[in-house]
Amino acid sequence: MNRQSPTLIPTVCGNTIITDASDGIGQTFDPATGQVVAEFARAGQQEVDLAVSAARKAFDEGPWGRMRPFERGRVLMRIAELITERREELVRLECADSGKPLRDAHWEVDCSARFFEFYAGATDKLHGNSIPLGPDWSDWTVKDAIGVSLHIIPWNYPFQLIARGVAPALAAGCSVIIKPSAETPVTAYEFMKICQDAGLPEGQVNLVNGRGSVAGDMLARHRGVDQITFTGSVETGQSVLAAAATHAVPCSMELGGKSAQILFADADLDRALPIIASGVFTHCGQVCNAGTRLVVERNIHNSVVDRLQAMIGDMSMGAGIDDPDLGPLINLGHKKDVDAFYEIAREEGELILGAETPKTEPLSNGAFVRPALVTGAGNETRIAREEIFGPILTVIPFDGAEDAARIANDSPFGLVAGVHTTNVDAALAMSERLRVGQVWVNSFAVGLDVEFPFGGYKLSGFGREKGLEALAAYQQVKNICVHHPLPR
Ligand code: NAD
Repeated sequence: MNRQSPTLIPTVCGNTIITDASDGIGQTFDPATGQVVAEFARAGQQEVDLAVSAARKAFDEGPWGRMRPFERGRVLMRIAELITERREELVRLECADSGKPLRDAHWEVDCSARFFEFYAGATDKLHGNSIPLGPDWSDWTVKDAIGVSLHIIPWNYPFQLIARGVAPALAAGCSVIIKPSAETPVTAYEFMKICQDAGLPEGQVNLVNGRGSVAGDMLARHRGVDQITFTGSVETGQSVLAAAATHAVPCSMELGGKSAQILFADADLDRALPIIASGVFTHCGQVCNAGTRLVVERNIHNSVVDRLQAMIGDMSMGAGIDDPDLGPLINLGHKKDVDAFYEIAREEGELILGAETPKTEPLSNGAFVRPALVTGAGNETRIAREEIFGPILTVIPFDGAEDAARIANDSPFGLVAGVHTTNVDAALAMSERLRVGQVWVNSFAVGLDVEFPFGGYKLSGFGREKGLEALAAYQQVKNICVHHPLPR
C-alpha cells in the first residue's frame, strides 16, 4: 500500500523554519483511531535560543511597538478574518488532532476569531491615568508592553487557548513565543501561517514545538523571556513557577478545576439538566471548567439521577469528525488514568455507566471511555476532589443553601460554579458566597464568551484571561511625574 508520509510540523523562529530540530521528531495521533496525524520537529536548547532571540529582536527593534495602536488593531482584525476564512480546514485539523466533536471544534475556531476581533478593538483604548498632585505638578501613567511573552498551551483547546493569550499580548505590544502541547501541535502551525498572511512583522510570533519537560522548561527558564502565560495542570504549573522564579518574571496561571453546579429543587429541570450535562460531558469532560460535581437539593436527588442516567445512556460516541456527543479522550495513557477513576468510584460510591464504547475497528483502537455518574460518594472522597479530566459527574446531595455553599467551596480548586434556581435572591446570595473566579446562573460555560474575565481562585490559578482584564498581564505601568513651576 502506498501510504502518504505524515505532514512535518516545524519550529518557527522569526522567518526561519526548522524541520530538523535538536530533540528529534515527535508524532501526534488521532485519538479516535490511533493513526498518526502529523510529525513535529522537537526543539532543544539551540532552537529555544533562536526563538527567544527572534522574539527579543522583534520586541526591542521591530516595527510593532512603533506602529500606531489602531494600525496594530487592523492587523489583529485581519488575523480574525483569516481564521474565519479558513474555518472548515482548521476545524477538521483540530478534530483529528485532539479528537473533539465537530461542533466543539467549530466553537473553538469561532471563539479564536472573536478573541482577535475583541482585542483588535482594544489596541487604541489602552489608556493610562492622570493623577492630581496639585499646582505646578503633572503626573500620569502609561501602559508599557511587558516584552517577550511566552504562552505554554495544553492539548484540550489548542487553537482557542493560543488565541486567548496571544491576542491580548499582541494588542498590548508584546512579541510572543508559543509552545503548544506535544499532543496537539497541528493548528498552532496553521496559526503561524495566518499571522504571516495577515502581515504581522517578522519574529512577532514564534513557534517552539517539543516536549514540555525539554523545550517548555528551557523556555520558562530563559532569561530572554519577560512574562509567562501558562495553561495546564497544577503540577506542571508549579514547575513553570519554579522555573520562572529563577529569573523572577511574572506568570499568569490557568490551572485545573473541580467545579460545582448547584441545583435547587425549584429550578426549571427541563432547562437545567441539559445545561448540567453539557457542562460536564463537553469534549468528554476534558475541560478545565467542567462542572464535575453536581450539588443537588436532597428531595430531588433520586429523580435527577434517574433523568441524568437516561441522558448518558442515549449519548452517541465516535470520532470527532462524525460529531458525536462524546469523542475519545486525548490518548490511551489518559484513558488508563480515567479508567482508574471508575475503580475509585466503585470503591467510594455507586458507579452508573452510560453509553457503550465503540466495539468495531478502527474505533475500538481509540481512547474511548463511557460517560458516568457517581452517587453515594461524599465531598471528601477522591472522586469528588480530584480533577479527572474525563466524563464523570459526581452527584452530592445538600440540605439547605448554606450546606450547598459549604460543599461547593470545600474544594482545593476554585475555577467556576453554576447555580440553577428560579429564586433570584438565592442565586444572588449564593453567587456572593462562592469562592470561584466565575459564577454562572441558570447557564454554564456557554457561547463565544471572550468579553468577561476568566480565571481561578485557590489551586485553579491566578491572573485573568479574557476581557479587558487580560491585558494587564501583558503591560507594566510606568508613572511620569513632572514639576513645572512658572519661570521666575
Ligand atoms: P500539562 O500541564 O500536562 O501540559 C501543559 C503544557 O505544559 C504543555 O504544552 C506541556 O508540553 C507543557 N509542559 C509540560 N511540562 C513542562 C515543564 N516542565 N515546563 C514547561 N512546560 C511544560 O496539561 P495538559 O495535560 O496539556 O492539559 C490539561 C490540564 O490543563 C488540566 O489540568 C486542565 O484543567 C488544564 N487547563 C486549564 C485551563 C484554564 O484556563 N484554567 C484551560 C485548559 C486546560
